[in-house]
Amino acid sequence: MTNSIYICGEWRPAADGSTREIRSPADGTLVAVVSDSRVEDALAAISAARVAFDSGIFSSWSWSERSALLSKVADFLERDMEIVAALESGDTGKRIIEAKYDVADVAATFRHFAKLGLEQGDRTVDSGLPHVSSRITQEGIGVCSLIGPWNYPLLQIAWKVAPALAAGCSFVLKPSELTPSTAIHLMKLLEEAGVPAGVANLVTGAGSIIGDTLTSDPRVDLVSFTGGLPTGKRIMIKAAETVKRVALELGGKNPNIIFADADLDAAIDFAVTAAFLHSGQVCSAGTRLILERPIHDRVVKEIVRRAKLIRIGAPADLTAETGPLISAGHLKKVEEYLAKGVAEGATLLVGGARCAAPELANGWFFPPTVLDNCDTTMYCVQEESFGPILTVEVFDSEEEAIKIGNDTIYGLSGAVWSSDIARTERVSKALRHGTIWINDYGPYKPAAEWGGFKASGNGRELGHHGLQEYLEIKHIWTNNSPSKSEWFADGN
Ligand code: NAP
Repeated sequence: MTNSIYICGEWRPAADGSTREIRSPADGTLVAVVSDSRVEDALAAISAARVAFDSGIFSSWSWSERSALLSKVADFLERDMEIVAALESGDTGKRIIEAKYDVADVAATFRHFAKLGLEQGDRTVDSGLPHVSSRITQEGIGVCSLIGPWNYPLLQIAWKVAPALAAGCSFVLKPSELTPSTAIHLMKLLEEAGVPAGVANLVTGAGSIIGDTLTSDPRVDLVSFTGGLPTGKRIMIKAAETVKRVALELGGKNPNIIFADADLDAAIDFAVTAAFLHSGQVCSAGTRLILERPIHDRVVKEIVRRAKLIRIGAPADLTAETGPLISAGHLKKVEEYLAKGVAEGATLLVGGARCAAPELANGWFFPPTVLDNCDTTMYCVQEESFGPILTVEVFDSEEEAIKIGNDTIYGLSGAVWSSDIARTERVSKALRHGTIWINDYGPYKPAAEWGGFKASGNGRELGHHGLQEYLEIKHIWTNNSPSKSEWFADGN
């Protein structure tokens, strides 16, 4: 779709006609050709969003009207499940079944914010004066730049689009340049659901070209970004000039701590999934396995055995359990990361080289990889690979497990496995990460806040706070019986 830029209710090409090919990371086939936005396009999209917001065309809708609209979008997503899943699978190389889980989660996100919108209302404050009423209202913050990554393309932008609409904001959406197809379809659904022209705008294209415009333009009130730490830092700097609100969902280097008294069958099974689901391209992936020393050998041996069994393949391969990395550039990054780990002294137990099978030769496939004998001084333990690489560390006491689990600049998520409930409570309290799973790994709920401590970001998505990000708070003080203040003498 070479007219994939959506501004003020119209589909258009890039200002200079530039286009970009989207190729399947599984086999290199062409899946789409989209407009490659220029700065002029980003500026036009911001203008449209600003005009729409200031006109009140949508921001003046009631909470219940906007909630009804979100519910309609959820219905449409469920109706178009097959289409949307196929688009997501085409761009990312993930299996159709995984893409369908994602679309179901996207619909659930819209339903969550539809429900939450209905719970909003003004709050009365006791003014202490009989003739004064005082209330707190909340209103949409204004124009939002919403920028998403490529690993869960539609889901991550839904966490932004749904609350932005619930709050009555207008927005410019920029999906990753690698995975724009589901964002394009979402715009069509928003249009069908009745979002007024100018409220929802889409620019497809590269962050390196339009990113700074979206994050520094004075007409933008909020930037909500999901992606890597370097980009997040740059966005904070760009947004600082006009004191925009910035919500950042960044990387993670997530500890998965297993004590010897845990249910090891379950812990091992989840450790494999936590590390290798979606080939490790998950911000909350359990990439740091932290084991109590006595169980190290048993757990590692079983994880290596399980890693070898994982079937890797393209979406068309119905027996595949996981797919490719997103791009050649990302594959190279993962390879370099691994080489650094080995050079630092980590022991490579399984995986470690690009998949050689002929049927995988045209894609960016990398196998589940385990690095043993790691510690927190190593690059491979501290930095995110965003690939299927699991590092293994050991501990000898609860205090040491906590220390290792917190020894990272990141703080997105983590898990603790033990049959001692008091211990799991102590450890979960001590871990400085935004989500902690006890005897589990991975689940999230739209009703629960998601986000990171430390360099994993600021603000929260989902839950209640995920709506608050998009709201301004206003105090309205009404004097129903005005009289002179008599603070200063009036000279009469
Ligand atoms: P990225 O390179 O930072 O890109 C994310 C988005 O930012 C893309 O749309 C990208 O556009 C855009 N961008 C690039 N340069 C920009 C600039 N100067 N200004 C504004 N936007 C710019 O991250 P990624 O590689 O797509 O995603 C992987 C990262 O996301 C990992 O670190 C992962 O942990 C994190 N992540 C976090 C969460 C969470 O919930 N905390 C969830 C998912 C992913 P282009 O695609 O055109 O470069």
